[in-house]
Amino acid sequence: MSFLELTDVHKHYGPVAALAGVDLSVTSGSRTAIVGPSGCGKTTLLRLIAGFEAPDRGRMVLDGEVLANGDAAVPAYRRGIGVVAQDGALFPHLSIAANIGFGMRQDKRTERIVELAYIVGLDKAILKRRPHELSGGQQQRVALARAMAMKPRLMLLDEPFSALDTGLRASMRKAVAELLETAGITTILVTHDQAEALSFASQVAVMRDGKFSQVGTPHELYLKPKDRMVAEFLGDAIILPAKIADGFATSPLGRIAVDSTERRDLVRIMLRPEQVLLKRTSREGMSGTPDMLFGEVTESEFAGSMCTIAVRLLNSPDPPDAAAIGNTPLVLRKPGIDTPVIGEIVRLTVSGKAHVFA
Ligand code: ATP
Repeated sequence: MSFLELTDVHKHYGPVAALAGVDLSVTSGSRTAIVGPSGCGKTTLLRLIAGFEAPDRGRMVLDGEVLANGDAAVPAYRRGIGVVAQDGALFPHLSIAANIGFGMRQDKRTERIVELAYIVGLDKAILKRRPHELSGGQQQRVALARAMAMKPRLMLLDEPFSALDTGLRASMRKAVAELLETAGITTILVTHDQAEALSFASQVAVMRDGKFSQVGTPHELYLKPKDRMVAEFLGDAIILPAKIADGFATSPLGRIAVDSTERRDLVRIMLRPEQVLLKRTSREGMSGTPDMLFGEVTESEFAGSMCTIAVRLLNSPDPPDAAAIGNTPLVLRKPGIDTPVIGEIVRLTVSGKAHVFA
């Protein structure tokens, strides 16, 4: 059963439709990530759920309690919802202990503050400090401890990891996910980081122009996106023209298995770059192998662990559209070690099924 249910939620700011009919269902104890381009309405939605603002229209129900129905809303302090904002929003004049214990009842307060600090991985020694004496990562942990102190029914995280560097970000994300899971707290995370959304959440919701384009599991959204926008928002995508029939596509990359049994002449199919495998060869290696697919590396950009390379197709065994050969540069990300260099000839094979857009 749904723990949080949003139905047809709308919010305007003057002429701007920040939310234009949001529907979302969140199950108890789950983690949902909301992603979408800047200005699509993510923060507005969190603010409405938290009760900082009321919707113009629509219904929001949390654990059977109607939070808002049209603009009649339960006030924020009565919702039992914890919020961790991007900047942590700590009280600068209060100590860390006072920040965590803000609004806590006096009995067992000190004990509880120490316990929460321990849970979020903060050293007891910093409890006397002020927020400006902490690193960004430590401040985020304090904000999380403060939000957890009220034992929320629902936790809203608005890009809480964005100020952290890559390594700390990944470890914080994992720690927070485990923490919330153990506490059984239903969580909604807003993030700009696609990989973060896919790894943190059990449900991902992609927002565009004030409503959700697609909501599903990370696997569904990554491998079976509804359209090109969702596909490209969640990672690199190779999108090709194709004809499909009997579970296979005829495409510039040859005959590829697809996730549809339909027969259609003009479709777009999608592969994730990691599905295209490369093997070094030479121009001589191309002769006498008409069924194989070859390409030449035209660009190569080293970025540490990964390398981005562009491959121009040299032949295509079964093209639906001859013009597509040679004009279809494939941009692939490969491990940075021993990557083919510009001018090298590679043999391409496709692993797994391509996704057919509806
Ligand atoms: P970002 O990823 O950049 O944080 P977002 O998806 O969170 O963006 P929102 O902050 O929800 O987007 O804003 C949605 C739209 O509503 C934007 O066009 C924004 O300019 C507008 N908006 C948000 N808050 C207000 C406000 N208080 N007054 C007027 N317009 C607003």
